[in-house]
Amino acid sequence: MTERLVVVGASLAGLRAVEGARKAGFTGAVTLIGDEEHLPYDRPPLSKAYLDADEKPDVTFREERHLRDELGVDLRLGTPAEAVDPADQAVLAGGGEIRYDALVIATGATARRLPGTEGIAGVHTLRTLDDAVAVRAALDSGARTVVIGSGFIGSEVASGARKRGLPVTIVEAAPTPLVRAIGEELGEAVAGLHHRAGTDLRCGVAVREITSTAGKVTGVRLADGTVLPADLVVAGIGADPATGWLAGSGLDIGNGVRCDASLAAEGATGVFAAGDVARWHNPLFDEVMRIEHWTSAAEQGAAAARNALDPANAKPYSTVPYFWSDWYGSRIQFVGVPGADEVRVVSGDPETDRFVALYRRGDRLTGVLTLNGQSVVMKYRALLARGAAWADALEFAARRAAARAGT
Ligand SMILES: Cc1cc2nc3c(=O)[nH]c(=O)nc-3n(C[C@H](O)[C@H](O)[C@H](O)COP(=O)(O)OP(=O)(O)OC[C@H]3O[C@@H](n4cnc5c(N)ncnc54)[C@H](O)[C@@H]3O)c2cc1C
Repeated sequence: MTERLVVVGASLAGLRAVEGARKAGFTGAVTLIGDEEHLPYDRPPLSKAYLDADEKPDVTFREERHLRDELGVDLRLGTPAEAVDPADQAVLAGGGEIRYDALVIATGATARRLPGTEGIAGVHTLRTLDDAVAVRAALDSGARTVVIGSGFIGSEVASGARKRGLPVTIVEAAPTPLVRAIGEELGEAVAGLHHRAGTDLRCGVAVREITSTAGKVTGVRLADGTVLPADLVVAGIGADPATGWLAGSGLDIGNGVRCDASLAAEGATGVFAAGDVARWHNPLFDEVMRIEHWTSAAEQGAAAARNALDPANAKPYSTVPYFWSDWYGSRIQFVGVPGADEVRVVSGDPETDRFVALYRRGDRLTGVLTLNGQSVVMKYRALLARGAAWADALEFAARRAAARAGT
């Protein structure tokens, strides 16, 4: 019988696991272990509203009283889990063993750092609330900013700097921003957002070194020898699943905790994973994937807890991956999976701030990218969830275009 649920990782997926367990009627003991000192908080605003010159938004999800009294959680913050012993069903944390009948691993991902920059003031990643406080303080002081990497987070930091009128350069090794997620052609289209906002975007360029004086950053030297002066350097170069503490556990932790379709970790009983750390078989696309997006982390947290508490009736978790990102007041949204045989713009114009593009693999619709297409993107997500054929997606797009022309 399941009497003790332990959740490691006190952020989005971990919180949703705890809430999901209580919602499912679980009345046993729940322990939530997190290595950060903060209560669970929301990360997307950290690279958006949090960087604005206005009042800082409150990013905390729930008050401590709610977690402890209403959800009855034994909350252990500032407590890194050090190991798990699946045979003994115990997590080692805070110098003691915490026993579980069901365990949800929700330790997320850790931002990659620029090698050789440890201890240089002014060089940051942006993953945690503490990172955001430091980046915001630098922007508040009018920092000349260089961002390494033009992914979501790097591009959002650049957007925040430009909003304040600060000079900002993005250095990107790939030919366009977001190339792995949306492809080169439409990567070029979103690069236009940077150009139009006055960000100096340099693609296909490698960084040779970060320069510093007396332990403080002074600039970024590129492979061609150019030096970009900087008071603030933000590395947005991706993240790795936080699995170091699971070494030696017997779990398969190559690029995330490998799970089956029900989010059950392979190689252990009673262990499930959720969120950015989970690599699972998504039945909808028949692919093993690890997603670093808000919506799936939230959904997986709840699904993993439900399945962990009732493994005999565990249900597969499938989803159409979804992310959004806000650049210079425009919203980029993508639903589906990357990689395509064909990309077709069905509405708007990639040279402007509004378009919809469909991605095809074989005869199936596999992805949709919208720029400022909030009214339509979830309709396409529903089509993807039904496994829509390419021809049906084109017909849907044509019907929408006709309806718009008639209005
Ligand atoms: C700045 C930023 C902006 C983002 N913007 C967007 C967006 O616009 N749209 C979108 O879809 N997604 C966005 N994301 C992604 C989204 O926030 C993540 O997908 C989501 O936070 C993942 O939740 P998680 O709970 O799986 O992992 P995390 O939020 O990473 O939380 C994992 C927690 O576990 C803790 N932990 C790690 N190891 C241990 C250990 N050994 N013991 C105890 N605790 C541990 C970590 O410190 C952390 O608190 C953004 C992410 C960031 C960082």
